[in-house]
Amino acid sequence: MSRLVRFFFLYLLAVVTPVSAQEVEPCATMVMDSLLRVKHPEIGSLDEFEIFLQRKIRERNDLLKTGRVVEEVVTIPVVVHVVHNGENVGSGANISRAQVEAQIETLNEDFRKKINTPGYNTHSRGADIEIEFQLAVINPQGQQMAEPGINRINGGRSSWTRDQIENLKTYTIWDPTLYYNIWVVDIAPSGSSQTLGYAQFPVQSGLQGLSEGGAATTDGVVVHYRVFGNSRKGNFPNLFPNNNQGRTLTHETGHWLGLRHIWGDANCGNDYCDDTPPQASASNGCPVGRQSCGSVNMVENYMDYSNDACMNIFTLDQKSRMRAVLRNSPRRRELLNSTVLGDTRGGAPIARFISDRQQVLLNGEVQFTDRSLNNPT
Ligand code: ZN
Repeated sequence: MSRLVRFFFLYLLAVVTPVSAQEVEPCATMVMDSLLRVKHPEIGSLDEFEIFLQRKIRERNDLLKTGRVVEEVVTIPVVVHVVHNGENVGSGANISRAQVEAQIETLNEDFRKKINTPGYNTHSRGADIEIEFQLAVINPQGQQMAEPGINRINGGRSSWTRDQIENLKTYTIWDPTLYYNIWVVDIAPSGSSQTLGYAQFPVQSGLQGLSEGGAATTDGVVVHYRVFGNSRKGNFPNLFPNNNQGRTLTHETGHWLGLRHIWGDANCGNDYCDDTPPQASASNGCPVGRQSCGSVNMVENYMDYSNDACMNIFTLDQKSRMRAVLRNSPRRRELLNSTVLGDTRGGAPIARFISDRQQVLLNGEVQFTDRSLNNPT
């Protein structure tokens, strides 16, 4: 390479690098997923997961078609780890209980397509996911929580890089088979790019010899405290204007249950849902009627990057994905047997055991865990 050419390349780098660093990255799920799979090759590739999930979606849809099985509304127990730096409750990253509750209420409105809320839509493919989220009342020590579903952590720093957060998760996580773990953190900007949140995708079951320990210790979602809550439900002045209606958690929970970005992270890419039109790229703002890839885009979909106020839809195919994940993915399906929502009914003990696998070869081993209710001996 001649000196002149080399100089030209160096010049190009110097000019191009700051520009790309300016790109906003609201959701870091895909980036974090790539890093996770390098660290834990045992969980396989995203493509392998997709093959598994497609099979499970077909099984679920066939089962429902028989009419002999009805899918129920299910409830997922939640713990919100509020990570702060010693601020008083209600100040800075140490967000108030009211702000947490406003956020969980919003999540339920969106997942239930609740009428008379911004989560409602009249689209022919708009789905009620029939999944609800409830703040846990029992902590891992079996005690009633003072603030249901809220675990306040003084992390000893004011903001957190994604590496630091991944480490924080490993020593603060609550059993991910009992709780949906949500960390609310001041996520440090990297360069001038600000991440609002990211999720860890579900994994497939049935991999022989798979030890899940590694990836299980970081399972859950991370959301910036300045987009967690809903300014329609209270006075939460810290919320970023375009992301102040709680849709970051809706989006990340979609990923956590197996959804992909609506543009498939590529130009007219694949999100594995037939009822979401192809789209060239992420949307910004609220470009209703946007056209790309030969179709009118569904910019109101929660798996786009539109402003919070713009969003109101998950589709039926997205529902199939999430419900298939919930039926089949380790650490997701177990949540439905969790007892941390405090079955305070009392009375006679209820026997409840869960197995670590649903299918087993002859002479294979199955491990059962006792999750019985009402203090049996
Ligand atoms: Zn995303």
